[in-house]
Amino acid sequence: MAPEGIIRFETAGGARIYRLPLQVFPSLRAYVHLVLAGDYVALVDTGSGQGVSDADLRDGMERVRDEWGELVEWRDIDRIVLTHAHIDHHGGLNMVRSLTDAPLAVHELDRRVIVHHEERLALSRFRMGVFLRRAGLDEARRARMLAMYSGGKNLFRSLPVDDVLHDGDLLDGVFRVIHVPGHCPGQVCLLIDDVLLTADHVLPNFSIFLSPESLTASNGVDHFLLSLRKVAALSGVRLGLGGHDRPVPDLGAAVEKIEATQRQRIQRVYEACAEASTIEELTARLYPAVGDYDELLALQKVGAYVEYLDQRGMLAIANLDEVAQDDSVAPRYVAA
Ligand SMILES: [Zn+2]
Ligand SMILES: [Zn+2]
Repeated sequence: MAPEGIIRFETAGGARIYRLPLQVFPSLRAYVHLVLAGDYVALVDTGSGQGVSDADLRDGMERVRDEWGELVEWRDIDRIVLTHAHIDHHGGLNMVRSLTDAPLAVHELDRRVIVHHEERLALSRFRMGVFLRRAGLDEARRARMLAMYSGGKNLFRSLPVDDVLHDGDLLDGVFRVIHVPGHCPGQVCLLIDDVLLTADHVLPNFSIFLSPESLTASNGVDHFLLSLRKVAALSGVRLGLGGHDRPVPDLGAAVEKIEATQRQRIQRVYEACAEASTIEELTARLYPAVGDYDELLALQKVGAYVEYLDQRGMLAIANLDEVAQDDSVAPRYVAA
């Protein structure tokens, strides 16, 4: 990917927000935000800690000082906030911790990923195995997917969290916390004056990843859509800054675009269920060209939309007798 510069934004109250681009994976860029409000300095997210991500973050901090003239060093940071505990946002914490003692804040539902990371990884791996079996994957394919699922995540070392965030909190008198579960259980949007840091919740030009609620409580399409309505109802937001996407000048229009995309995806999965199919078969039909890690993501996406339709009684299980007798049999979903 071509290199990208730092962009500076200013809120109505005069806070400066620097958007630092980090290459978090070879094919994924993410933005970390450095927020300066008076003497207060906060780092929002930390990148993946993989590949060049840590170096990009250190370089970004230097450029804010050298190119933008901000007198800010790592030791000046007063606060680290995580928008959510996905590895592309929290993986850089181990490096950040070696440079600053600033207290770390994360939403209560994502705290466990940071403080008990090894335990979380073991449990989510187990649940992923169950999901993949119920999706219809044979043992060899499951083993391959589970190896990919754990790859990279096991490099992170657990750290203490100093402050736990809840919906509606005002953190340090600067960030209004808006809890937006769906993409990640403890994801938050952070409102600073008239600028909303939207994390991975509002990314209108980006394919937002959703996995089923059956894999992780508070995730899934239903929570995501409710959380979209929640941010659409906020007043006075002039600008949205997301974790991977271009700046969003019109939050309402962005939410509508995302909702329309979600409706299309739900409809596509529903139509694909005209023929009774397992989640694996649906994924092969809807995402025929993907392989490796993208295939694992596609299986979870299809699983999330199947779950949404199933929750609403719009699907039936065509092989119910078999499924009822043997829990190793994958359900074949058919439009009801
Ligand atoms: Zn995420
Ligand atoms: Zn992300």
